Amino acid sequence: MKLARTGPRGQEIPIALHADGRWRNIAALVGDISPEVLSPQRLQALQQALQETRGANLPVVEPGRYGLPWLGCGKFVGVGLNYADHAAEAGLPIPTEPILFTKHTCCMVGANDPVVMPQDARKCDWEVELGVVIGQRARYVSEADALSFVAGYCVVNDVSEREYQMERNGTWDKGKSCDTFGPVGPWLVTADEVPDPQALDLWLDVNGRRFQAGSTATMVFGVAQLVSYISRFTTLYPGDVIATGTPPGVGMGVKPQPIYLKPGDEMHLGIGGLGEQRQRVHAWDARLLDA
Ligand code: ZN
Repeated sequence: MKLARTGPRGQEIPIALHADGRWRNIAALVGDISPEVLSPQRLQALQQALQETRGANLPVVEPGRYGLPWLGCGKFVGVGLNYADHAAEAGLPIPTEPILFTKHTCCMVGANDPVVMPQDARKCDWEVELGVVIGQRARYVSEADALSFVAGYCVVNDVSEREYQMERNGTWDKGKSCDTFGPVGPWLVTADEVPDPQALDLWLDVNGRRFQAGSTATMVFGVAQLVSYISRFTTLYPGDVIATGTPPGVGMGVKPQPIYLKPGDEMHLGIGGLGEQRQRVHAWDARLLDA
């Protein structure tokens, strides 16, 4: 099942892709896509309702802008250097344990919303990543059980300002949570449609040039390991999301000179089966944050 929210900012309606290939307004079934809706029981009930009614009574929707695919994300956990080849391009050793950082949830925006550079930013960079969305409370869960706590998956662009991240006396969080640095979506794909999260292709283009091309098969720590690991340091709640690290090809790693984003650039990224995002980069303009 694919779940999304479409409409102008603050006025999104919840939609689901029906088997007939058309999006349906599911407000009558769920209200909105809140964390509670992401539980295994509620997702199963929703799927059943969609199948039984064939969406008959649900209005067909032609999605416009995609907002956040679900509401109520309490934590946006990032994982650093989780692809061996990306660690190499960053000139850093492959981690022996997952590196965790925080993207504050206020950085989250819709999949194709503008990315706005902070006022004095010089080193804005891109990172296509598999987002893992939690569906039920996870606390000290085993690796064997970990995937049963996952509601679904989505595309994340872990937009990063490298000077803030690396040169401003720590922590990484400084360069990870600026407004608009967390495009998520366009939709949430429920876990039943992603039988193997370690077999997904990821890619990212800037202005039509392919910079990133990888596979979740080369993660250092896989999704089950990450959910289990993180749940030992903080309780994961429904609606929380984990950005699981990026494959090689970020701007910082381009030789001989790094390439960073500038106003007017367009990022286009996607993950097989999870959809695509497209963001235009803008110089600082506070009005864009509320548009
Ligand atoms: Zn990242």
